Amino acid sequence: MPELILPAETSRQLAVLYAEMEIAYDRVARQLDFSCAGCPDNCCDSYFLHHTYIEWAYLWEGIKALPETKQSGIIARAVHYELEATRLLAKGERPNLLCPLNEAGLCGLYAHRLLICRLHGVPAKITRPDGHELRFPGCFRCQELAERQPNPPELDRTDFFRWMVEMESAFIKSLGQALPRVKMTLAGMLAQGPPCL
Ligand code: SF4
Ligand code: SF4
Repeated sequence: MPELILPAETSRQLAVLYAEMEIAYDRVARQLDFSCAGCPDNCCDSYFLHHTYIEWAYLWEGIKALPETKQSGIIARAVHYELEATRLLAKGERPNLLCPLNEAGLCGLYAHRLLICRLHGVPAKITRPDGHELRFPGCFRCQELAERQPNPPELDRTDFFRWMVEMESAFIKSLGQALPRVKMTLAGMLAQGPPCL
């Protein structure tokens, strides 16, 4: 099956989108005087599902640039993660397993981490296409900091999600065929290999 490779322009646009997210995130974090430094928790063990082929392919762009020994170590951890997550989910438990890209507490593929890794932490809101607004209070540290402010800032995720959906739709359209919906952990994206047609 042919691998789905991102056109250079899509890859470039995704990097721009990620950079914009970072700017918006940092603005809110600065206003709250927030950082993850010294936190007793590590959110890289949170169970998240991801939904786009473009992020999956972009993640693999980063993986392929790593030395082969490093790649195989990551893939082995990802396979183990998936087995363990499947076991826990079958018991009705939400997995709390360290992301296979995490090394000594830090992200081992920072420039290629996924959207939710970039937005998690600070208080946020999103307006759905039907106009309904959803709010996320942020992590426990951010909530403590936000409580000290009369009008705490929040990150509006709406445009970032819209932008991502538009890029994903354009990419799928360019392939000229429908693809199954993506609903995978980051570990699953690594364990399964790059996306293919
Ligand atoms: S996002 Fe919040 S809870 Fe998670 S590691 Fe950072 S400071 Fe800690
Ligand atoms: S990709 Fe990086 S930031 Fe995201 S969960 Fe994995 S180690 Fe953490």
